[in-house]
Amino acid sequence: MRRFLGPLVFLVLLAAIVPLPAFLWAQGPVQKGQAQRALDIYFIDTEGGQATLFVTPSGESMLVDTGFAANQGMPDATATSSSGAPITRDADRISTVFKQAGVTVLDWMVISHYHGDHVGNAAELASRIPVRHFVDHGPYSVELQPNRSAAFLAYMAVRDKGRAMVAKPGDKIPVPGLDVEVVSSAGELIKVPMQGTPRQAAPGAGLPNPLCRDAKLKEQDPTPENFESVGVVVQYGSFRLLDLGDLTWNQEHALVCPNNLLGNFDVFHTTRHGDPHSGAPQLVHAIRARVAVMNNGERKGGDPTYWQTVHEAPGLVDFWQLHRSAAGGTDHNSPEQFLANIFGMINGRNGFMREYPARAKSAVSSSR
Ligand SMILES: [Zn+2]
Repeated sequence: MRRFLGPLVFLVLLAAIVPLPAFLWAQGPVQKGQAQRALDIYFIDTEGGQATLFVTPSGESMLVDTGFAANQGMPDATATSSSGAPITRDADRISTVFKQAGVTVLDWMVISHYHGDHVGNAAELASRIPVRHFVDHGPYSVELQPNRSAAFLAYMAVRDKGRAMVAKPGDKIPVPGLDVEVVSSAGELIKVPMQGTPRQAAPGAGLPNPLCRDAKLKEQDPTPENFESVGVVVQYGSFRLLDLGDLTWNQEHALVCPNNLLGNFDVFHTTRHGDPHSGAPQLVHAIRARVAVMNNGERKGGDPTYWQTVHEAPGLVDFWQLHRSAAGGTDHNSPEQFLANIFGMINGRNGFMREYPARAKSAVSSSR
């Protein structure tokens, strides 16, 4: 693999330090009776797309989104590298992480929505590894423009051959050993406070949110597919992670105002790559996440205002980013040891790509 950075491990266990492709790797707490085994979460760098892999102690796997197809989702999806081979950058990265994680069959592929940075490699990955179940928000119609349909149509072809679940808010995605609850899908949201595990109110869920009083709303932006995003809460014992895909600002608002229906979290996977159409402070500050992970690219998401909102979130201990944000400059990026990927260059004329790994020194320092 071209880039190497040590795995980033937090919470309970230590892991072997080995060179890996650029991603952030989190381990949840060890459950009773599962000595030395933990939930592994891999936040894979797809340059401003999304691909997050969960692997339970018993080896059950769930991938949320599949990154960009081919040439970073640009219209020329048949672009080839300088060697003439098709570009399969994100699919290759995800496959490498599958190998690293020992995943030979993908049990669950969750597609948050049908934009190319999320559904891009669904079909490609399904051609490389068996996929047992697909989860998505159902029909797609609003943005079926010529330059946006390719990845979706390719996904439909593999979905039709597998077992598919259309997620509704409040549904569980039945991953054995993991509690995965859908909190948004197809524009609908949960209406009641979340339960925790065991079945009692999730910490902080249902409480009035004082941040709603001065909260602002935003105009709906003209990308209706984001509005349809499947958002999930992943619970493993007392560990809680929030991933709302590319859900919009006003929907974030509705999930926490007037009462915080979601509760508090250990990990907040920032909504929509850190784009200012999401990241409502009334949510980001109410959920009291200890760790945030931003799936931004160098020039996608990573908005300075959004970054500042996360940076100032009460209870936040660490803020990781999959990339340094060009827009963030020196004041609105996390320190280098919290960045999974430093930078890469793509020649827009011919698709030639070269990536520049973190220097060995920083790789060591980020492997703790
Ligand atoms: Zn996106």
